Amino acid sequence: MVNKTNAQTQQQASNPITISIPELRSAFDGRVIAPGDPGYDEARTVFYGGIDRHPAVIIRVKDANDVSHVVSLARDTGLELAIRSGAHSVAGHCVTDGGIVLDLSDMRDLKINVEERTAWAEAGLTAGEFTTAANAYGLATGFGDTGSVGIGGLTLGGGVGYLVRKYGLTIDDLLAADVVTADGQLLHVDAETHLDLFWAIRGGGGNFGVATRFKFRLHEVDKIVGGMLFLPATPDVVASFIALAEAAPEELSTIANVMTAPPMPFIPAEYHGKLIVMAMLVYAGEVVAGERVIAPFRALAKPIADMVRPMRYPEVYPPEQEGYHPVAAGRTMFVDTIDRSVAEMILEHLRASTGFMAVAQLRVLGGAMARVPAEATAFAHRKSRIMVNLAALYNQPDEKMTHEAWVTDFASALQQDDSGAYVNFLGDEGEARVRAAYPGQTWERLLDLKSRYDPTNLFHLNQNISSAKEESGG
Ligand SMILES: Cc1cc2nc3c(=O)[nH]c(=O)nc-3n(C[C@H](O)[C@H](O)[C@H](O)COP(=O)(O)OP(=O)(O)OC[C@H]3O[C@@H](n4cnc5c(N)ncnc54)[C@H](O)[C@@H]3O)c2cc1C
Repeated sequence: MVNKTNAQTQQQASNPITISIPELRSAFDGRVIAPGDPGYDEARTVFYGGIDRHPAVIIRVKDANDVSHVVSLARDTGLELAIRSGAHSVAGHCVTDGGIVLDLSDMRDLKINVEERTAWAEAGLTAGEFTTAANAYGLATGFGDTGSVGIGGLTLGGGVGYLVRKYGLTIDDLLAADVVTADGQLLHVDAETHLDLFWAIRGGGGNFGVATRFKFRLHEVDKIVGGMLFLPATPDVVASFIALAEAAPEELSTIANVMTAPPMPFIPAEYHGKLIVMAMLVYAGEVVAGERVIAPFRALAKPIADMVRPMRYPEVYPPEQEGYHPVAAGRTMFVDTIDRSVAEMILEHLRASTGFMAVAQLRVLGGAMARVPAEATAFAHRKSRIMVNLAALYNQPDEKMTHEAWVTDFASALQQDDSGAYVNFLGDEGEARVRAAYPGQTWERLLDLKSRYDPTNLFHLNQNISSAKEESGG
């Protein structure tokens, strides 16, 4: 077995940015995938389309020891380091041109402690995999709306999903984590050990280290009442949907996608290509109460399709289409109100899009998420009322400018008093938008911790919190 540190030091001396693939292969327990290898193209592919980067090497780490060595390799060679768990980065930060991809997707161990109602989960698991495994015991932790999203990136940014109003963000159920910091050390962080780092990774993304595993609290969530409800998209339906979602008990979390109807078999052909409301509802409580709470949503208009029913919780994550790599112009924001006039404006903008699909995703927040003090975690938007994600999907790269202009115009028309942004839905939008994710004191505190835990900004391919040193030009 090659001594990793010596091999790197020798390479660095001869050439700071070349790496020997054969030496890496013998040095790592996990898989080392290089240009020319079968599977290289698949391994560098990420969820979003239009991202075509060629890393010098992809290292599918096997354990925390491997992670630590990849971090040291990046530090010693000066090669750019991309961290990848589920590869759903909206900004494409999980792959680099010419650098090293640290890929955690082979680290999927999950240990559920049913009595304690906790789980230790390796960062390479997806939300769907965790949810299915925990449901075998009638238990759940809340993640996002899509099964294939990695728990790695989702958790570190906050995690807003179907249990957000009942149990809060994913980070509100994060009890501990193991993190490899920029110096290659493996640290255990929780409410008692490295509390500052524990605070920072609950919203601060991948800025502070590589999370190898997380300890989550589990809740009793076995059967839910939920699923998709398709309604006609009128200003009244949209505004009333939001009003009902805000007034509903916390057991109910909703996501209303006001969007171009896809040609799905259960949507009548007359709606295909027209605007509809595709809502996802999850009532995490008694079935009878759930049916009662959801009834007024069904009564908003004659549903186009109604697939809401009692189901096991993992069924909220239906199978996903293999090889689906959308290209989108998107924007995330928070708003305070969606009344009839705002709803009208949303529909007008969606109609004006020339993308093959346009969507305004509306998520009513509040409940348990809002009861956590803003300063308790690096995710500080506790009082934000409604999260809005706008997107136009398109096929031709040369249409990019058109769709970016549309989404910019749409977002500025919709802007109200809340100027914040949720870090996990940010694209590659520049420093001001990263600042929007971390308002006021949160930013100062994160800067301070960044300068302590990652003074050279090794972990920069992310929604980057530039170190205080760099900020002051030092
Ligand atoms: C289709 C889709 C649906 C989504 N739905 C939701 C939703 O409902 N709720 C929600 O909150 N978010 C949602 N998101 C956003 C999602 O949370 C972020 O894109 C998240 O970063 C994805 O995590 P990942 O592990 O899949 O991505 P990756 O691309 O693997 O990681 C994204 C970034 O996170 C950091 N990172 C990832 N893993 C680690 C790690 N182990 N250690 C350190 N840093 C790491 C890195 O900086 C990396 O570049 C959605 C995204 C998509 C594309």
